[in-house]
Amino acid sequence: MIKIEKLHKSYPIGKDSLHVLKGIDLHIKEGEFVSIMGSSGSGKSTLLNIVGLLDIHDEGDYYLNGQLIKDMNEKKAALLRNKFLGFIFQSFNLISYKTALENVALPLYYKGMGRKERLQVALDYLEKVGLKDWANHLPNELSGGQKQRVAIARALVTKPKVVLADEPTGALDSTTTDSVMDLLKDINDEGMTVFVITHEEEVAEQTKRIVRLKDGVIISDEFTKASKAV
Ligand code: ADP
Ligand code: MG
Repeated sequence: MIKIEKLHKSYPIGKDSLHVLKGIDLHIKEGEFVSIMGSSGSGKSTLLNIVGLLDIHDEGDYYLNGQLIKDMNEKKAALLRNKFLGFIFQSFNLISYKTALENVALPLYYKGMGRKERLQVALDYLEKVGLKDWANHLPNELSGGQKQRVAIARALVTKPKVVLADEPTGALDSTTTDSVMDLLKDINDEGMTVFVITHEEEVAEQTKRIVRLKDGVIISDEFTKASKAV
């Protein structure tokens, strides 16, 4: 699903440059549930943004679903994002003046689906995350955990092949964190590839494979106990 080889990324800083990813090799198969662990500044978001076609790498190869990602303009990147990827962020990124239902339905609008159909599909996804009764509420009427569940429904509504989550539990307390991770586990059980960034050990342990990043290199890549549980 995701194949990365000898990948490098630097950011220009004035006349200098900051070398953030220093030769990353990573293969993620369809249906995996993987976390990237590492301290702040280790390059996790940089890696996820490249995987999510939100940023471009400098050197090395990246294949998404067998397709080499190279010389990509924003239009083509957006097309591939819409087709394959769903995103979840720490700060939820919900639109404040739209209801939970409208937020979830929005990606379907961009796909050209009619209003009645997209609201119906969005409602099904809100039900899936346990928030059907909250469909007509605005984000500021929801708790942090509920907001993240709306964001998860929005990430899933286009049926992506991969869900990319950057610190999805970073703004949540530990009980809410567990319920969000349970939801990601359910999604993975249904066959979705899930790729989570976190700096919390308890969160990483709930995924099936932990890739540890330090100063832009992978220092370990191991399957967890959760991968062996039946
Ligand atoms: P993490 O997500 O692990 O905390 P990041 O990938 O966000 O780390 O950042 C890695 C390093 O790259 C940090 O030193 C950060 O300051 C720097 N960085 C991130 N994004 C940019 C950018 N757009 N321009 C310049 N430097 C950046
Ligand atoms: Mg980050």
